[in-house]
Amino acid sequence: MSSSRILVLNSGSSSVKYQLLDMADSSRLAMGLVERIGEETSRLKHTPLTGDGAERERTGPIADHEAALKAVAEELAADGLGLDSPELAAIGHRVVHGGLKFTEPTVIDDAVLAEIERLVPVAPLHNPANITGIRTARALRPDLPQVAVFDTAFHTTMPESAARYAIDVATADEHRVRRYGFHGTSHAYVSRATAKLLGKAPEDVNVIVLHLGNGASASAVRGGKCVDTSMGLTPLEGLVMGTRSGDLDPAVIFHLARVGGLSIDEIDTLLNKKSGLIGLCGDNDMREIRRRIDEGDEQARLAFDIYIHRLKKYIGGYYAVLGRVDAIAFTAGVGENAAPVREAAVAGLEELGLAVDGDLNGVRSDEPRLISPEYARVKVAVVPTDEELEIATQTYALAALAGKNS
Ligand code: ADP
Repeated sequence: MSSSRILVLNSGSSSVKYQLLDMADSSRLAMGLVERIGEETSRLKHTPLTGDGAERERTGPIADHEAALKAVAEELAADGLGLDSPELAAIGHRVVHGGLKFTEPTVIDDAVLAEIERLVPVAPLHNPANITGIRTARALRPDLPQVAVFDTAFHTTMPESAARYAIDVATADEHRVRRYGFHGTSHAYVSRATAKLLGKAPEDVNVIVLHLGNGASASAVRGGKCVDTSMGLTPLEGLVMGTRSGDLDPAVIFHLARVGGLSIDEIDTLLNKKSGLIGLCGDNDMREIRRRIDEGDEQARLAFDIYIHRLKKYIGGYYAVLGRVDAIAFTAGVGENAAPVREAAVAGLEELGLAVDGDLNGVRSDEPRLISPEYARVKVAVVPTDEELEIATQTYALAALAGKNS
Protein backbone atom coordinates (compact mmCIF):
# COMPACT_ATOMS: atom_id res chain seq x y z
CA MET A 1 0.00 0.00 0.00
CA SER A 2 1.66 3.25 -1.09
CA SER A 3 -0.92 5.50 0.53
CA SER A 4 -0.30 6.03 4.22
CA ARG A 5 -2.67 8.78 5.32
CA ILE A 6 -5.39 8.01 7.83
CA LEU A 7 -8.28 10.33 8.72
CA VAL A 8 -9.50 9.79 12.28
CA LEU A 9 -13.06 10.92 13.04
CA ASN A 10 -14.62 11.24 16.48
CA SER A 11 -18.26 12.15 15.85
CA GLY A 12 -20.38 13.42 18.72
CA SER A 13 -24.04 14.41 18.59
CA SER A 14 -23.24 18.02 17.67
CA SER A 15 -19.51 17.90 17.04
CA VAL A 16 -16.85 16.21 14.94
CA LYS A 17 -13.20 16.05 16.01
CA TYR A 18 -10.73 15.01 13.36
CA GLN A 19 -7.06 14.40 12.72
CA LEU A 20 -5.22 13.51 9.56
CA LEU A 21 -2.10 11.44 10.19
CA ASP A 22 0.65 10.08 7.97
CA MET A 23 1.41 6.58 9.21
CA ALA A 24 4.68 6.41 7.24
CA ASP A 25 6.17 8.28 10.22
CA SER A 26 3.13 8.61 12.55
CA SER A 27 3.16 12.38 12.03
CA ARG A 28 0.10 14.60 12.29
CA LEU A 29 -0.76 16.60 9.16
CA ALA A 30 -3.82 18.48 10.37
CA MET A 31 -6.39 18.48 13.13
CA GLY A 32 -9.57 20.28 13.98
CA LEU A 33 -13.01 20.42 15.49
CA VAL A 34 -16.50 21.26 14.23
CA GLU A 35 -18.78 22.34 17.07
CA ARG A 36 -22.47 23.17 17.50
CA ILE A 37 -23.51 21.33 14.33
CA GLY A 38 -27.16 22.07 13.54
CA GLU A 39 -27.12 25.47 15.24
CA GLU A 40 -26.78 28.98 13.84
CA THR A 41 -23.49 29.43 15.67
CA SER A 42 -21.57 26.41 14.33
CA ARG A 43 -17.82 26.76 14.32
CA LEU A 44 -15.00 24.92 12.55
CA LYS A 45 -11.49 25.26 13.91
CA HIS A 46 -8.80 23.86 11.64
CA THR A 47 -5.13 23.58 12.46
CA PRO A 48 -2.70 22.67 9.68
CA LEU A 49 0.37 21.01 11.14
CA THR A 50 2.60 21.00 8.08
CA GLY A 51 4.37 24.09 6.77
CA ASP A 52 3.73 27.33 8.60
CA GLY A 53 -0.05 27.53 8.12
CA ALA A 54 -1.91 29.19 10.98
CA GLU A 55 -5.11 28.00 12.66
CA ARG A 56 -8.24 28.90 10.68
CA GLU A 57 -11.77 29.38 11.91
CA ARG A 58 -15.15 29.34 10.15
CA THR A 59 -18.32 30.43 11.87
CA GLY A 60 -21.92 30.30 10.71
CA PRO A 61 -24.52 27.56 10.39
CA ILE A 62 -23.36 24.03 9.54
CA ALA A 63 -26.61 22.12 9.15
CA ASP A 64 -25.60 18.50 9.76
CA HIS A 65 -22.73 16.01 9.86
CA GLU A 66 -22.64 15.78 6.08
CA ALA A 67 -22.12 19.55 5.79
CA ALA A 68 -19.55 19.36 8.59
CA LEU A 69 -17.50 16.70 6.84
CA LYS A 70 -17.72 18.60 3.55
CA ALA A 71 -16.38 21.71 5.31
CA VAL A 72 -13.55 19.65 6.83
CA ALA A 73 -12.74 18.24 3.37
CA GLU A 74 -12.55 21.79 1.99
CA GLU A 75 -10.20 22.93 4.74
CA LEU A 76 -7.96 19.91 4.17
CA ALA A 77 -8.02 20.51 0.40
CA ALA A 78 -6.87 24.09 0.99
CA ASP A 79 -3.75 22.61 2.64
CA GLY A 80 -3.22 20.25 -0.29
CA LEU A 81 -4.50 17.33 1.82
CA GLY A 82 -7.85 16.74 0.11
CA LEU A 83 -9.86 13.66 1.06
CA ASP A 84 -10.07 12.69 -2.62
CA SER A 85 -6.30 12.16 -2.60
CA PRO A 86 -5.01 8.66 -3.46
CA GLU A 87 -2.74 9.18 -0.46
CA LEU A 88 -5.69 8.61 1.88
CA ALA A 89 -5.58 4.93 2.87
CA ALA A 90 -8.56 4.66 5.21
CA ILE A 91 -10.84 6.43 7.65
CA GLY A 92 -10.85 5.37 11.30
CA HIS A 93 -13.91 6.04 13.45
CA ARG A 94 -14.08 6.15 17.20
CA VAL A 95 -17.16 4.15 18.19
CA VAL A 96 -18.09 4.32 21.84
CA HIS A 97 -20.00 1.07 22.33
CA GLY A 98 -19.06 -2.22 20.71
CA GLY A 99 -20.92 -4.44 23.18
CA LEU A 100 -19.55 -7.96 23.55
CA LYS A 101 -19.34 -8.66 19.86
CA PHE A 102 -16.59 -6.24 18.86
CA THR A 103 -13.40 -7.25 20.65
CA GLU A 104 -11.13 -5.78 17.95
CA PRO A 105 -11.08 -2.89 15.49
CA THR A 106 -13.33 -3.89 12.61
CA VAL A 107 -13.63 -2.97 8.92
CA ILE A 108 -17.11 -1.52 8.53
CA ASP A 109 -19.61 -3.12 6.16
CA ASP A 110 -23.42 -3.07 6.23
CA ALA A 111 -23.60 -5.93 8.73
CA VAL A 112 -21.14 -4.22 11.10
CA LEU A 113 -23.09 -0.97 10.86
CA ALA A 114 -26.32 -2.83 11.65
CA GLU A 115 -24.69 -4.38 14.73
CA ILE A 116 -23.48 -0.95 15.95
CA GLU A 117 -27.08 0.23 15.53
CA ARG A 118 -28.33 -2.73 17.56
CA LEU A 119 -26.25 -1.37 20.44
CA VAL A 120 -27.99 2.03 20.48
CA PRO A 121 -30.23 1.07 23.44
CA VAL A 122 -27.13 0.58 25.66
CA ALA A 123 -25.36 3.70 24.32
CA PRO A 124 -28.16 6.12 23.41
CA LEU A 125 -25.99 9.22 23.83
CA HIS A 126 -23.02 8.08 21.79
CA ASN A 127 -23.61 5.37 19.17
CA PRO A 128 -26.18 7.32 17.08
CA ALA A 129 -23.66 10.14 16.53
CA ASN A 130 -20.91 7.64 15.70
CA ILE A 131 -23.23 5.96 13.17
CA THR A 132 -24.02 9.31 11.53
CA GLY A 133 -20.28 9.98 11.21
CA ILE A 134 -19.69 6.58 9.62
CA ARG A 135 -22.57 6.95 7.13
CA THR A 136 -21.40 10.40 6.10
CA ALA A 137 -17.79 9.31 5.61
CA ARG A 138 -18.84 6.22 3.65
CA ALA A 139 -20.95 8.39 1.33
CA LEU A 140 -17.97 10.69 0.80
CA ARG A 141 -15.44 7.94 0.02
CA PRO A 142 -17.32 4.66 -0.60
CA ASP A 143 -14.17 3.15 -2.11
CA LEU A 144 -12.08 3.46 1.06
CA PRO A 145 -11.84 1.01 3.96
CA GLN A 146 -13.58 2.51 6.98
CA VAL A 147 -12.63 1.05 10.34
CA ALA A 148 -14.49 1.19 13.65
CA VAL A 149 -12.30 1.34 16.76
CA PHE A 150 -14.37 0.66 19.85
CA ASP A 151 -14.00 2.29 23.28
CA THR A 152 -15.19 -0.93 24.89
CA ALA A 153 -12.99 -3.42 22.97
CA PHE A 154 -9.99 -3.39 25.31
CA HIS A 155 -12.24 -4.30 28.23
CA THR A 156 -13.80 -7.39 26.64
CA THR A 157 -11.06 -9.49 28.27
CA MET A 158 -12.53 -8.78 31.72
CA PRO A 159 -13.52 -12.00 33.47
CA GLU A 160 -17.21 -12.52 34.19
CA SER A 161 -16.48 -11.99 37.89
CA ALA A 162 -15.56 -8.38 37.12
CA ALA A 163 -17.96 -7.77 34.25
CA ARG A 164 -21.20 -8.91 35.86
CA TYR A 165 -23.32 -6.97 38.32
CA ALA A 166 -24.74 -9.07 41.15
CA ILE A 167 -28.31 -8.88 39.89
CA ASP A 168 -30.72 -11.48 38.52
CA VAL A 169 -28.91 -13.11 35.62
CA ALA A 170 -31.92 -13.53 33.33
CA THR A 171 -32.94 -9.88 33.70
CA ALA A 172 -29.36 -8.74 33.18
CA ASP A 173 -28.96 -10.85 30.05
CA GLU A 174 -32.31 -9.85 28.60
CA HIS A 175 -31.37 -6.18 28.77
CA ARG A 176 -27.63 -6.63 28.18
CA VAL A 177 -26.90 -5.14 31.59
CA ARG A 178 -23.23 -5.71 32.45
CA ARG A 179 -20.02 -3.77 32.87
CA TYR A 180 -18.54 -2.85 29.49
CA GLY A 181 -16.02 -0.14 30.42
CA PHE A 182 -14.97 2.82 28.25
CA HIS A 183 -11.84 4.85 27.35
CA GLY A 184 -10.47 1.48 26.19
CA THR A 185 -8.36 2.95 23.38
CA SER A 186 -6.59 5.13 25.93
CA HIS A 187 -6.15 2.32 28.49
CA ALA A 188 -4.71 0.07 25.76
CA TYR A 189 -2.31 2.73 24.48
CA VAL A 190 -1.17 3.89 27.92
CA SER A 191 -0.68 0.41 29.37
CA ARG A 192 1.51 -0.52 26.39
CA ALA A 193 3.44 2.77 26.55
CA THR A 194 4.01 2.20 30.28
CA ALA A 195 5.50 -1.24 29.62
CA LYS A 196 7.78 0.37 27.03
CA LEU A 197 8.82 3.03 29.54
CA LEU A 198 9.78 0.22 31.95
CA GLY A 199 11.76 -1.46 29.15
CA LYS A 200 9.51 -4.53 29.27
CA ALA A 201 7.04 -6.35 27.04
CA PRO A 202 3.34 -5.66 27.79
CA GLU A 203 2.90 -9.39 28.57
CA ASP A 204 5.35 -9.06 31.45
CA VAL A 205 3.86 -6.14 33.36
CA ASN A 206 0.85 -5.42 35.53
CA VAL A 207 -0.31 -1.82 35.38
CA ILE A 208 -3.02 0.30 36.97
CA VAL A 209 -4.00 2.99 34.46
CA LEU A 210 -5.69 6.13 35.76
CA HIS A 211 -7.28 8.05 32.87
CA LEU A 212 -8.23 11.32 34.55
CA GLY A 213 -9.80 13.75 32.10
CA ASN A 214 -13.18 15.41 32.34
CA GLY A 215 -14.47 11.84 32.15
CA ALA A 216 -12.30 9.58 34.30
CA SER A 217 -11.71 5.86 34.62
CA ALA A 218 -9.25 3.40 36.12
CA SER A 219 -8.26 0.01 34.80
CA ALA A 220 -6.33 -2.98 36.05
CA VAL A 221 -4.21 -4.47 33.25
CA ARG A 222 -2.50 -7.82 33.72
CA GLY A 223 0.08 -8.78 31.10
CA GLY A 224 -1.44 -6.43 28.52
CA LYS A 225 -5.04 -7.56 29.11
CA CYS A 226 -7.70 -5.63 31.00
CA VAL A 227 -9.02 -7.53 34.04
CA ASP A 228 -11.15 -4.76 35.55
CA THR A 229 -12.20 -1.20 34.85
CA SER A 230 -14.17 1.40 36.76
CA MET A 231 -16.80 2.43 34.18
CA GLY A 232 -19.69 0.04 33.76
CA LEU A 233 -22.86 -0.25 31.66
CA THR A 234 -22.33 3.45 30.91
CA PRO A 235 -19.50 5.91 31.61
CA LEU A 236 -21.26 6.98 34.83
CA GLU A 237 -19.80 4.37 37.19
CA GLY A 238 -16.53 4.62 39.08
CA LEU A 239 -14.35 7.61 39.80
CA VAL A 240 -15.51 11.13 40.66
CA MET A 241 -15.44 13.00 37.32
CA GLY A 242 -15.80 16.56 36.09
CA THR A 243 -19.59 16.43 36.00
CA ARG A 244 -20.44 12.75 36.78
CA SER A 245 -20.94 11.31 40.24
CA GLY A 246 -19.22 7.97 39.66
CA ASP A 247 -20.14 5.27 42.22
CA LEU A 248 -23.14 5.72 44.47
CA ASP A 249 -25.70 3.59 46.23
CA PRO A 250 -28.30 2.82 43.51
CA ALA A 251 -30.97 3.50 46.13
CA VAL A 252 -30.06 7.20 45.88
CA ILE A 253 -31.98 7.11 42.59
CA PHE A 254 -35.12 5.58 44.16
CA HIS A 255 -34.88 8.08 47.00
CA LEU A 256 -34.58 11.08 44.68
CA ALA A 257 -37.55 9.81 42.66
CA ARG A 258 -39.83 8.80 45.55
CA VAL A 259 -38.94 11.37 48.17
CA GLY A 260 -37.44 14.15 46.05
CA GLY A 261 -40.03 13.89 43.27
CA LEU A 262 -37.40 14.06 40.51
CA SER A 263 -38.14 12.38 37.18
CA ILE A 264 -35.83 9.71 35.76
CA ASP A 265 -34.59 12.19 33.14
CA GLU A 266 -33.89 14.79 35.82
CA ILE A 267 -31.91 12.27 37.84
CA ASP A 268 -30.02 11.22 34.71
CA THR A 269 -29.04 14.85 34.06
CA LEU A 270 -28.20 15.40 37.73
CA LEU A 271 -25.81 12.43 37.91
CA ASN A 272 -24.23 12.85 34.48
CA LYS A 273 -24.04 16.62 34.10
CA LYS A 274 -24.44 18.31 37.50
CA SER A 275 -22.49 16.03 39.82
CA GLY A 276 -18.83 15.14 40.32
CA LEU A 277 -16.53 18.10 40.83
CA ILE A 278 -18.98 20.61 39.37
CA GLY A 279 -21.75 19.42 41.68
CA LEU A 280 -19.46 19.45 44.70
CA CYS A 281 -17.91 22.89 44.24
CA GLY A 282 -19.23 24.57 41.09
CA ASP A 283 -16.05 24.04 39.06
CA ASN A 284 -14.93 21.04 37.03
CA ASP A 285 -11.55 22.34 35.91
CA MET A 286 -8.81 21.05 38.20
CA ARG A 287 -6.73 24.21 37.62
CA GLU A 288 -9.54 26.38 38.98
CA ILE A 289 -10.13 24.01 41.89
CA ARG A 290 -6.43 24.13 42.85
CA ARG A 291 -6.46 27.94 42.59
CA ARG A 292 -9.44 28.12 44.94
CA ILE A 293 -7.79 25.70 47.38
CA ASP A 294 -4.69 27.92 47.43
CA GLU A 295 -6.97 30.81 48.40
CA GLY A 296 -8.36 28.77 51.30
CA ASP A 297 -11.71 27.80 49.71
CA GLU A 298 -13.16 24.98 51.86
CA GLN A 299 -15.72 23.79 49.31
CA ALA A 300 -13.04 23.31 46.66
CA ARG A 301 -10.85 21.52 49.25
CA LEU A 302 -13.65 19.08 50.08
CA ALA A 303 -14.34 18.41 46.38
CA PHE A 304 -10.64 17.65 45.87
CA ASP A 305 -10.54 15.38 48.94
CA ILE A 306 -13.59 13.39 47.75
CA TYR A 307 -11.99 13.04 44.29
CA ILE A 308 -8.74 11.76 45.81
CA HIS A 309 -10.48 9.44 48.30
CA ARG A 310 -12.31 7.68 45.46
CA LEU A 311 -9.12 7.45 43.41
CA LYS A 312 -7.27 5.85 46.33
CA LYS A 313 -10.03 3.26 46.78
CA TYR A 314 -9.60 2.20 43.15
CA ILE A 315 -5.80 2.11 43.39
CA GLY A 316 -6.06 -0.10 46.47
CA GLY A 317 -8.81 -2.23 44.95
CA TYR A 318 -6.94 -2.84 41.71
CA TYR A 319 -3.74 -3.54 43.62
CA ALA A 320 -5.62 -6.36 45.32
CA VAL A 321 -7.16 -7.55 42.04
CA LEU A 322 -3.75 -7.71 40.36
CA GLY A 323 -1.79 -9.08 43.32
CA ARG A 324 1.44 -7.68 41.92
CA VAL A 325 1.67 -4.21 40.45
CA ASP A 326 4.66 -3.00 38.42
CA ALA A 327 3.44 0.52 37.71
CA ILE A 328 0.67 3.04 38.11
CA ALA A 329 0.22 5.32 35.10
CA PHE A 330 -1.50 8.71 35.18
CA THR A 331 -2.92 10.04 31.92
CA ALA A 332 -5.39 12.52 30.28
CA GLY A 333 -5.89 16.22 31.15
CA VAL A 334 -5.78 15.93 34.94
CA GLY A 335 -3.47 12.91 35.12
CA GLU A 336 -0.89 14.45 32.79
CA ASN A 337 -0.96 17.97 34.21
CA ALA A 338 -2.10 18.06 37.83
CA ALA A 339 0.92 17.23 40.01
CA PRO A 340 -1.07 17.79 43.26
CA VAL A 341 -3.56 15.09 42.20
CA ARG A 342 -0.76 12.58 41.54
CA GLU A 343 0.94 13.42 44.82
CA ALA A 344 -2.26 13.16 46.88
CA ALA A 345 -3.43 9.93 45.19
CA VAL A 346 -0.23 8.12 46.09
CA ALA A 347 0.41 9.76 49.50
CA GLY A 348 0.49 7.28 52.38
CA LEU A 349 0.84 4.21 50.15
CA GLU A 350 4.54 3.61 50.93
CA GLU A 351 3.66 0.26 52.53
CA LEU A 352 2.38 -0.80 49.10
CA GLY A 353 5.73 0.16 47.55
CA LEU A 354 4.33 3.38 46.08
CA ALA A 355 5.91 6.82 46.29
CA VAL A 356 6.20 10.01 44.25
CA ASP A 357 9.37 12.12 44.02
CA GLY A 358 8.37 15.76 44.52
CA ASP A 359 10.92 17.16 42.06
CA LEU A 360 10.17 14.64 39.31
CA ASN A 361 6.44 15.14 39.85
CA GLY A 362 6.84 18.88 39.32
CA VAL A 363 8.52 18.56 35.92
CA ARG A 364 6.23 19.47 33.00
CA SER A 365 6.74 17.45 29.83
CA ASP A 366 4.83 15.89 26.92
CA GLU A 367 6.97 12.74 27.15
CA PRO A 368 6.19 9.55 29.08
CA ARG A 369 8.20 9.71 32.32
CA LEU A 370 8.65 8.14 35.75
CA ILE A 371 7.92 10.28 38.80
CA SER A 372 8.68 7.69 41.50
CA PRO A 373 11.98 7.70 43.40
CA GLU A 374 14.60 5.14 42.40
CA TYR A 375 13.88 2.93 45.44
CA ALA A 376 10.11 2.61 44.84
CA ARG A 377 9.06 -1.00 44.25
CA VAL A 378 6.06 0.10 42.18
CA LYS A 379 6.86 2.72 39.56
CA VAL A 380 4.62 5.75 39.16
CA ALA A 381 4.46 7.07 35.59
CA VAL A 382 2.95 9.96 33.70
CA VAL A 383 2.10 8.76 30.19
CA PRO A 384 0.36 11.19 27.82
CA THR A 385 -2.46 9.41 26.05
CA ASP A 386 -2.94 9.63 22.29
CA GLU A 387 -6.26 8.09 21.32
CA GLU A 388 -6.12 9.46 17.76
CA LEU A 389 -2.72 7.89 17.10
CA GLU A 390 -3.96 4.59 18.53
CA ILE A 391 -7.08 4.69 16.31
CA ALA A 392 -4.94 5.60 13.28
CA THR A 393 -2.43 2.82 14.02
CA GLN A 394 -5.16 0.20 14.32
CA THR A 395 -6.99 1.52 11.25
CA TYR A 396 -3.81 1.52 9.17
CA ALA A 397 -2.95 -2.03 10.18
CA LEU A 398 -6.43 -3.27 9.21
CA ALA A 399 -6.51 -1.27 5.97
CA ALA A 400 -3.15 -2.74 4.95
CA LEU A 401 -4.53 -6.21 5.63
CA ALA A 402 -7.74 -5.48 3.72
CA GLY A 403 -5.60 -4.25 0.78
CA LYS A 404 -3.58 -7.50 0.78
CA ASN A 405 -6.66 -9.69 0.87
CA SER A 406 -8.53 -7.92 -1.92
P1 ADP B 1 -11.85 15.03 28.08
O1 ADP B 1 -11.09 14.43 26.91
O2 ADP B 1 -12.50 14.02 28.98
O3 ADP B 1 -12.74 16.18 27.74
P2 ADP B 1 -9.22 15.93 28.96
O4 ADP B 1 -8.44 14.68 29.07
O5 ADP B 1 -8.90 16.88 27.89
O6 ADP B 1 -10.78 15.66 29.04
O7 ADP B 1 -9.07 16.68 30.37
C1 ADP B 1 -9.70 17.92 30.60
C2 ADP B 1 -9.47 18.30 32.05
O8 ADP B 1 -8.07 18.31 32.36
C3 ADP B 1 -9.91 19.73 32.40
O9 ADP B 1 -11.28 19.76 32.75
C4 ADP B 1 -9.02 20.08 33.58
O10 ADP B 1 -9.67 19.67 34.79
C5 ADP B 1 -7.79 19.21 33.41
N1 ADP B 1 -6.59 19.97 33.07
C6 ADP B 1 -6.16 20.35 31.85
N2 ADP B 1 -5.00 21.02 31.95
C7 ADP B 1 -4.68 21.05 33.26
C8 ADP B 1 -3.60 21.62 34.03
N3 ADP B 1 -2.60 22.27 33.45
N4 ADP B 1 -3.62 21.44 35.36
C9 ADP B 1 -4.63 20.77 35.96
N5 ADP B 1 -5.66 20.23 35.31
C10 ADP B 1 -5.70 20.37 33.99
